[in-house]
Amino acid sequence: MNAAVLDSMAPLAEASTTLLEVANLKKHYAAPKRWLTKQQPPVQAVDGVSFTVARGETLSLVGESGCGKTTTAKSVMRLIEPTSGSVQLDGEELTTLSPENMRLRRRDVQIIFQDPYASLSPRLEAGEIVGEPLRNFGMSRAERHERVTWLFGKVGLRPESVTRFPHEFSGGQRQRLGIARALALNPKLIVCDEPVSALDVSVQAQVVNLLMDLQAEFGIAYLFVAHDLAVVRHISHRVAVMYLGRIVEVADRDTLFSAPRHPYTEILLSAVPVPNPRTPAKRMLLQGDPPSPANPPSGCRFHTRCSIAKDICKQQDPTLSERDSASTGGHWVACHFR
Ligand code: SF4
Repeated sequence: MNAAVLDSMAPLAEASTTLLEVANLKKHYAAPKRWLTKQQPPVQAVDGVSFTVARGETLSLVGESGCGKTTTAKSVMRLIEPTSGSVQLDGEELTTLSPENMRLRRRDVQIIFQDPYASLSPRLEAGEIVGEPLRNFGMSRAERHERVTWLFGKVGLRPESVTRFPHEFSGGQRQRLGIARALALNPKLIVCDEPVSALDVSVQAQVVNLLMDLQAEFGIAYLFVAHDLAVVRHISHRVAVMYLGRIVEVADRDTLFSAPRHPYTEILLSAVPVPNPRTPAKRMLLQGDPPSPANPPSGCRFHTRCSIAKDICKQQDPTLSERDSASTGGHWVACHFR
């Protein structure tokens, strides 16, 4: 997305209350046992992640590929079963729900996938795809038809296109179908897993603006996973930065982009294009390769790549603690020196 299209995110409801509360979430994968080798330690894809999402809020998860942001988002919905930790939606614990009760609860938590081509069944008409969750929840054919037609209008698709098949839509239109499907059951939270990264740049802004319009109209909260920081800056209320399975910084969008504290966040954000080309930002580069999540560094996980690391960083794991409570939701950082 072009940085020049940046503008404000949707305003949060004044009395925002917590909708989603995630505490100490972990997802570890056992390494496959190989013949004549020692059992390898588990891969710590997500290792003790905690955050909240308020009603009507967009919280973005950002970080390098492999940092655990998509695993976190899918674990929240139990599309991936977390290893441990707590996920509460409206005060109800999701991790201990039976499969049937979790299925029922999914009406409140929906997902938009990265690839609109792969996430829609090619054999179903568009109206059937969007109406499938309604049928699963027992809505009659006539009611479904009325709701699907309404949803098509809400996402900017012509209602008469309900009988077309996915391949007859453009990429942006297919993602609109994915959004309509996610919206069908009137969810409180939508997990957006890189929802625009497979789209042409010219279409990305339209889809992001559609998501923001729907949020403003229906008060939906988004857990937004993305690597494109210009998109994140456009849509987010708050941003959580992940590194090697942990959150290292959380702040409201403006604070994070104007005054990042964690050395990793500084490097990550230095790659964002600035609107004024006369004052180009100094691009900072990450040193070395990301360590293996099966064998993360001792102490601060970022110490092997941090330019200001000291001895203590190799020994003590910094906790994510609040630095500035004045910004919305607080400014939280995991670093011994920032
Ligand atoms: Fe760098 Fe140390 Fe801070 Fe980690 S704790 S980010 S290694 S300064």
